Amino acid sequence: MNKATLAVCRNIVETGRLLLQSKLVEGVWGNISARAGKKGLIAITPSGRGYATLCYKDICVIDAEGKPQKNSLTPSSELPLHIAVYSARQDVKAIIHTHSIYASAFAVAGQPILSVVEDMAQIVGGQVDVSEYALPGTASLAANAVNALAGKNAVLLKNHGLVACGRNLTEALTVALIAEKTARIFLYAKQLNAGINGITAEDIKILRDFYLDKYSRQQLVRD
Ligand SMILES: [Zn+2]
Repeated sequence: MNKATLAVCRNIVETGRLLLQSKLVEGVWGNISARAGKKGLIAITPSGRGYATLCYKDICVIDAEGKPQKNSLTPSSELPLHIAVYSARQDVKAIIHTHSIYASAFAVAGQPILSVVEDMAQIVGGQVDVSEYALPGTASLAANAVNALAGKNAVLLKNHGLVACGRNLTEALTVALIAEKTARIFLYAKQLNAGINGITAEDIKILRDFYLDKYSRQQLVRD
C-alpha cells in the first residue's frame, strides 16, 4: 500500500472514532469510504467490525469495480452504494453512511429534511430528499440513492438512514452532523405548529456559493 492510500485508511479509522463520539452510529452499523489515490481506488470500512477497535490495516482497498486490492476483510455490504455515488459524482471524495436517529425518523416517514437553517443550505446544498425503498446492499438501493442525491451532498435511504458526501472525510462528517442537527431542529419546529418554510432556492444558491467560494476553502487547504 502506498503512502497516500495508507493515509486515507488512517483517516477513515479516525473518522470512525469521531462518528462514535458524535453518537451518529452505534455498534457496527454505518460505513465510511474515501477515494484512495489516483487509480480509482476506494478505501472502505470492513463489514461487521466496531469502530472503537478498528485499525488502519482492517480498512479494505478495492478498485472501481469492487475488486479487492489486497488480502483484506470483507468490505461493507453497502460497497455497491459507495461505488455508485463515486461513479456518478466525480466531486465526491468521501462518503459516510449512518443510521442516526433524527435523520432516520425522516427516512421512515418518507419526508425530506427541508433546508430550514443556513448551515444546511451551505454544506448540503438544499433539502435532503428520500430515495425509493430498496433492500440494503443491493444495486437497486445504490441506483435509487444516486437518483435522489442528484447534485447535493446528502440523501435519505427510505426506512433506513442517511448518506453524507463531501470533498474529504472532514466535510462528509460535517454534512452528516449538520443533516442530523437540521432534522432535529425541523422536528422540534414542527411541534410548535407554525407554518414552516425552507429557505428559498434563490437564497440556498447564495448561501451555497458563499460556502464553496469562501468559507470552506481554508478547511480544504488544511486537509
Ligand atoms: Zn445502513
